[in-house]
Amino acid sequence: MKNVRVRFAPSPTGIPHIGNIRTALFAWILAKKHNGKFILRIEDTDQNRYDPQSELAIIESMNWLGLAWDEGPEIGGNYGPYRQSERKNIYIDIAEKLIESGKAYYDDTTPEQLESLRKHQKEQKLPPRYDGRGRKRTEEQIKKSREKGVPITVRLKVPDFGKISFIDKVRGKIEIDAKEIDDFVILKSDNMPTYHLAHVVDDHLMKISHVIRAEEWISSTPRHILIHQALNYSLPEYVHVPLILGSDKSKLSKRHGSTSVLEYKKQGFINDALFNFLSLLGWSPGDDRELLSKEEIISEFELNKINSSSAIFDLNKLEWMNGVYIRGYSNKELIEKIKPILESENESIGLPKSIKRPLDESYLIKIIPLIKERIKTLNEISELIDFFYDNNIKNTVENIIIKKLDSSETIRILNKSINILNDIKSFKSELLESSFRNLVEIEKIKPGQLFTSLRFALSGKKIAPPLFETMEVLGRAKCIKRVSNAIMLVK
Ligand code: GLU
Repeated sequence: MKNVRVRFAPSPTGIPHIGNIRTALFAWILAKKHNGKFILRIEDTDQNRYDPQSELAIIESMNWLGLAWDEGPEIGGNYGPYRQSERKNIYIDIAEKLIESGKAYYDDTTPEQLESLRKHQKEQKLPPRYDGRGRKRTEEQIKKSREKGVPITVRLKVPDFGKISFIDKVRGKIEIDAKEIDDFVILKSDNMPTYHLAHVVDDHLMKISHVIRAEEWISSTPRHILIHQALNYSLPEYVHVPLILGSDKSKLSKRHGSTSVLEYKKQGFINDALFNFLSLLGWSPGDDRELLSKEEIISEFELNKINSSSAIFDLNKLEWMNGVYIRGYSNKELIEKIKPILESENESIGLPKSIKRPLDESYLIKIIPLIKERIKTLNEISELIDFFYDNNIKNTVENIIIKKLDSSETIRILNKSINILNDIKSFKSELLESSFRNLVEIEKIKPGQLFTSLRFALSGKKIAPPLFETMEVLGRAKCIKRVSNAIMLVK
C-alpha cells in the first residue's frame, strides 16, 4: 500500500471511551505497517460541548499507549491547521462553492417549522425527514429572512433517485437508495460545519487514504459519499471497526470495568499489555495467539482480519495479560515501572509515608522476584511488600499461636525457631527451609502449622511471598527481632 495516511479524529466532548482509543490504535498500526502517516485531528466544531479536559485525556491516553502522531495540533504538518475550529473559513468557502454550483442551497426553515413538519409526519406514520422546501426559496426570500434574523443553514441537494454505494473494507459493499436520504444540513446557522461536511473536506484536503472509524458511522457514510460526489473528491477507503461490548454483550459501560484508558493506567496496568489487549478487540492475527508484541501486531495486521462482529471486553483476560507482561519484564525493568508507584504519596498505591524515599534499589531488586509471579497489576505490589520496609508488624495472638497447640508450646517452638535463625551459618532460603522442615519433623507437627505462624510473625500477613525467600531478604537480625516480638505478644 502506498501513501497510507490515516487519522484519528476525536471530538473532545467527554472522557475518551476505550473504544475510541482502540480505533486510534488500529489507525496507528495501519500507518506503521505501511510506513505511512498517522494524523491527529481535533474535531471541535461543536463549541458548546468542547471540553479541554477531554482533549488532554485523549492526548494523555495516546501518549501512554505510544500512539505518537506525525501531524496534529501543536506539532503541525503540511496540511494544517489540525483543529477544526481553526478551519472554519475553509468549510464556509466550500459550502458557498456548493451553492454556486447548484449542489447545495440556503435554507431558512425555522426550527419551529421543522418541528411541526416532524409532528405532522409522525401523525401520518411517515419517517421523519426534511421535505426539501428550501429548494424553492429565492435569493430574495433568503435575504429577507437573514435581515429578520431567521437562522439560515446550508443543505446539500440530495438526488431523489438512484443508489448510493460504497465498499467497506470490513463489511463489503453497502448500498442504499438515494431517496432514503433527505437534504441534510452541511453548514449550521452559526456558520459552523456539520461533522458530515467538515470531516469529508478535511479527509480530502489532508489526503487521508483510509477512514478508520467506529461502526456507528456506517449509516451516515452514504451522506459522506454524496458530499464527495458533489465536490468531485475521490473516495478514501472506508474501514468501520466493530463495537466493543461488555461480557454480557451489552454496550461496554462502567458496569463492565472502567471505560477510560487512563483509569487502567491509574489501576496499575501496563501500557504494552493494554496495547496488546486493545489490538485484539475486533482484530486477530488469524490464529489463536493472544500475546503479541507491538512489532508482531504491526507486521501481522491486515484490514481483512478485522472482524465485522462486535468485540467482547473481557477484564479477566486483560488482568491475565497484564500479569504475563509483568512477568516478562526483567527485575530491573520492573523496578523502573514500580518505583514511582511505591514512592507515590498516594497511600492507596504507595508504601506507607513513614518509609524513607527514595527506596533503596539494591534492596528492592531482591524483593521483586518474590512477588513477580503472583501479581496482576502494579498497584497490588506495595500492599504485598510493605512489611519488608516497615518493622512495625501488626499481629494478633491468634495469628501467632501455632494451630492445634497452646501458647506455651507455641512459645517453645518459636524459641527453637529463633535458635535456628541464630545458628544457621549461611542465611540462605534453601538452608533455612531444610532446617525448619527438620524442626517440624522433630516436633511432629505439620509444616503449615509452623509456617503460618512464622509468616504472620515476619509479615503480619496470612498471604505473603514465599516464607524462606522472605527470610533471606529480610536478613537474620530482622527475622530474629520479629519472631521475638511475636513471642512477646503470646506471653
Ligand atoms: N469526530 C468523530 C468522532 O469522534 C470522528 C468520526 C470519524 O472518525 O470520522 O466520532
